[in-house]
Amino acid sequence: MSSPGDTPDPAASAAAAAASAEASAIMHAIKHKGEHQYPIDIWYFLASTVGVAAVLNVASVIWAFWRRQEVRRGTTSGIVSGKAQTNGIFTRLAYAAVAASRIVAFRWRVPTIRLSILEALLTAIYLMALLIWLLANTQQLTITDYSDRAGHIAGSQIPLIVGLSMKNNIIGYLIGVGHEKLHVLHRSFARSLFVIVLVHGFSRVTVDHVQMVEFGWTRLGLACGIIYAIIILMSFAPIRRRFFEIFYMFHVVLVFALILIAYLHSAASNFGYYVWPAFVVWGFDRVCRYMRYLILMDFHSPFNSSSQATIELLSADTIRMTARRGATLPITWSAGQHMYLALPSLGPVESHPFTIATIPNDDSPNDSSARERKGKEMVWIIRARDGFTKRMRDYVTGLGGKCQVPIFMHGPYGIPADITPFSTCVFVAGGSGVTYTLPRMRDLLLRVSKSQACAQRIFFIWAIRHASHLEWLSSEFTKALSMVRENPSVSFVIKIYITSSVSGNSLSLSSDDMEKDVETPTSIGEKQVTAFGDSELVEVKYGRPNVATIIEHVVHGSDGPVSVDVSGPKLLLQDVRGALSGGFASPLNILRGGPFVQLNVETFAM
Ligand SMILES: Cc1cc2nc3c(=O)[nH]c(=O)nc-3n(C[C@H](O)[C@H](O)[C@H](O)COP(=O)(O)OP(=O)(O)OC[C@H]3O[C@@H](n4cnc5c(N)ncnc54)[C@H](O)[C@@H]3O)c2cc1C
Repeated sequence: MSSPGDTPDPAASAAAAAASAEASAIMHAIKHKGEHQYPIDIWYFLASTVGVAAVLNVASVIWAFWRRQEVRRGTTSGIVSGKAQTNGIFTRLAYAAVAASRIVAFRWRVPTIRLSILEALLTAIYLMALLIWLLANTQQLTITDYSDRAGHIAGSQIPLIVGLSMKNNIIGYLIGVGHEKLHVLHRSFARSLFVIVLVHGFSRVTVDHVQMVEFGWTRLGLACGIIYAIIILMSFAPIRRRFFEIFYMFHVVLVFALILIAYLHSAASNFGYYVWPAFVVWGFDRVCRYMRYLILMDFHSPFNSSSQATIELLSADTIRMTARRGATLPITWSAGQHMYLALPSLGPVESHPFTIATIPNDDSPNDSSARERKGKEMVWIIRARDGFTKRMRDYVTGLGGKCQVPIFMHGPYGIPADITPFSTCVFVAGGSGVTYTLPRMRDLLLRVSKSQACAQRIFFIWAIRHASHLEWLSSEFTKALSMVRENPSVSFVIKIYITSSVSGNSLSLSSDDMEKDVETPTSIGEKQVTAFGDSELVEVKYGRPNVATIIEHVVHGSDGPVSVDVSGPKLLLQDVRGALSGGFASPLNILRGGPFVQLNVETFAM
């Protein structure tokens, strides 16, 4: 120990200097790692997660291929052996494990926040990953270091958040999930990232609040925080759902401003490379959208009569829109996909998603020359709500219930699940949800006839409020029924449930009757059935369907995996999810020899 006046020991001073240099080198390394390496580590982690999901997606594609091959090999008549999951304990265990994970991940919901368990889990993992890297290796870190680290992490995540919201979504293509479903993660990840932005901002304020407004680049940072907070507040469901168009307009403008300002803020300290890829992602989506748009318009203007659409009022709140596309360029879509439609006649351009109710190979083969001349028919059934769809209804009503309109459209979007490997396919729709289930069923029938699908039993359940709704897609139903006649090996049932009084008919049912699932008086049943031109395959009933019981009955009679596609009102979706969360769809039932049941839900909401 040295005392005042002592001559410093040169060796001790050199050792102290070396130790201090080493400490500062370690500090520098930790700081440097936090600022440069951790954002990259987080990206590695996210890329691995997407990689795992992509592998699962590929596994399901391989399974579907294997099942189809099994059917082809099974017998010449194409009858599925269907015992895959009941044969062998290991196969049953595998199916039971998949069933258990699907029930927990997709069918269970977190109360009040309405996220599925998978969405909630992914959000929690994402937030935890951000916090772990933010708080890792904290040796001798100052509050300023934390602030910098949080800023770097936040900046590096902006391209991901933007990427998750894109319609032309590379992550979605890799993992087999449509943009409308990824939107949930876009929102919940953006909210998680806001926590890191708050750490960045508040730690700066703690260090030196004057500095926040002192320099140009710090003022930009403050502006980012404020804009981000406004975006988050506006995105909460009650505001977003109530004022969707205003929300959407502000969202686009504010997000563009946020990314630009975040870029300028981070570029001031040479970290602009974290943020600018967000513009690349955004630009990629726009270019794809405009290319799709131009192709869909056959490079015509929407005002060209050949690229217009016909709209018709079907009932007080239902519109049918029909367009033909692909006369010059080949255009296709998968059953269950949707398009974004905009009608310039209704004022400032806003586009809304609607599911295509037809299939691309809709016209009969004999009509192929006509198809080449006119293109493929696209039909949408649109339920009038309060905004754009109400204006659409008022417009067509003012023009006598039918008119031609210029139309902009882009798409198709959505990645509907592959149901070709399933032995039994159930379709459940409520109201306009039929625009999803009907083309899915017709596409399946087409594939069965080409030996590209395994279905041997098809059940189609449609609940409508009025008998008149049978007319919405009667020609598509008629085509479906003629396809059924061409596939006698498939057992086929259509059940229509009319849940309120018949329009133009005095029959009105009490709520008791509706719950009891009353049989229709034959004369009325026949009258409706003739709308589809076939009375044997279609059963019309009055009352609400008891979907749980119907599906249970179907599942019990199946000797192979079962798929259930559902689309319609929220309560219907809840009922089906509930029915398939245990009991006859449970892993235990599979272990006892029951079939595996997969649920595919289309929600018509984002
Ligand atoms: C993938 C998908 C497919 C759909 N298919 C059909 C279909 O075939 N037939 C049908 O009738 N409806 C369908 N919808 C719902 C349809 O898009 C909305 O009902 C329509 O956009 C409402 O427009 P609006 O201005 O009249 O709505 P408003 O009355 O203003 O709002 C009603 C609800 O619609 C939602 N909404 C409004 N605009 C949009 C938008 N641009 N994108 C997404 N949601 C929006 C809002 O959250 C709001 O809760 C589908 C939705 C999605 C996401």
